[in-house]
Amino acid sequence: MVMSIRHYLDHAATTPPRPSAMAAFAATSTGQNPSSLHADGRAARSALEQARDVVAECLGASPSEVVFTSGGTESDNIGIIGAARAVRAAGKRAVVAVSAAEHHSVLDSAEQIAREGGRVRTIDVDSEGVPSIASIEEIAAGVASTPGEFLVLGAMVANNEIGTITDTAGIARALAGTATHFHADAVQAAGHIPIDFAASGADSMSISGHKFGAPMGIGALLIRRDAPVQPLGFGGGQERDLRSGSVNVPGAVALAAALTDATEEMEHSAKILVELRDRLIDGIRGAVPGAELVGPEDRGAYDRRLPGNVNIFFPGREGESMLMLLDQAGISCSTGSACTAGVAEASHVALATGRNVDDAKSVLRFTLGWTSTDADIDATIAAIADVAEKARRPDVTRSRLRPGR
Ligand code: PLP
Repeated sequence: MVMSIRHYLDHAATTPPRPSAMAAFAATSTGQNPSSLHADGRAARSALEQARDVVAECLGASPSEVVFTSGGTESDNIGIIGAARAVRAAGKRAVVAVSAAEHHSVLDSAEQIAREGGRVRTIDVDSEGVPSIASIEEIAAGVASTPGEFLVLGAMVANNEIGTITDTAGIARALAGTATHFHADAVQAAGHIPIDFAASGADSMSISGHKFGAPMGIGALLIRRDAPVQPLGFGGGQERDLRSGSVNVPGAVALAAALTDATEEMEHSAKILVELRDRLIDGIRGAVPGAELVGPEDRGAYDRRLPGNVNIFFPGREGESMLMLLDQAGISCSTGSACTAGVAEASHVALATGRNVDDAKSVLRFTLGWTSTDADIDATIAAIADVAEKARRPDVTRSRLRPGR
């Protein structure tokens, strides 16, 4: 039998679990509840608190600021909806400010607050997806001068589609002195670039284990002790009463193990990933005339673009067709856009950066991670010209790739 080798370039969707995380998960999957008072429960509690200490240490937070959740979406929901509902409970009106380039867990949280009577403001972003500080200052000043309003601002530390790294410290400076809850979505950043929650100026911050080598279904919300936030779920009052439900101890311990590895390896792996990233960018641009990098150029560094992110615009092709052709060639990547019932949608991030709908449907995202190798880059560069050529042809993309449509 011929075994086909696959090349996985979709680490931003989820990255393979690290052996240390799976070992920690298995070792604590012993059926003990950390809320039980007996010795078995106390052992689980102790493992959970050690995991909390490790997460706090890796991310510049204090252990009491770490609330374990099911992942990034839940953390973003609590950080924004929970903060906005606390504003309303205090008798004020929440104004939620987000940019159009945010993840849907943030955008949809803002929409939910609008349905509940809050106001939503859109932060401008530039062509690289960087939120405009002037726009944030303008929104913050407007809220500050409107009696009874309070700002809840959501901004991502790194963009999941185009890899842009946000100047969160600059946002915090722009908000200094105004009554604001600043929620930072660090789901794509944690474990990949240095994070210091205390220094960030954020009131809450979300992370997700499966983006840095823990299994799916575990994440955390870092939240300042004095930040008023209402829970979204109700029950046993676990996790500072912010996230009721028996805590996923094996998940939390696995998350701590993966984050430890990712943090220890960060500097070294960023160097390797930047090399692979830049070789892939150059290789694709060399092989496909007209192909353009979306998001910041960040040659040889990682202060503007995530080390493992490559997002390319292929004029005249649909990203979805190229994705399927690459898939047939054994390469997994993503269009960076939502896929509803198999229909390619324009990437909302590309649209937010000013691209038109056709352009926004023509992007592919290749994301690298801890298992990436030179062979993954070589295979993608070797396949891309042929794939881009075939994807131009409507007969191939319509009938052979998408039967029945
Ligand atoms: N925020 C960002 C920036 C993301 O990239 C993702 C997932 O892709 C999420 C939030 C949601 O995280 P999760 O999949 O853990 O719910």
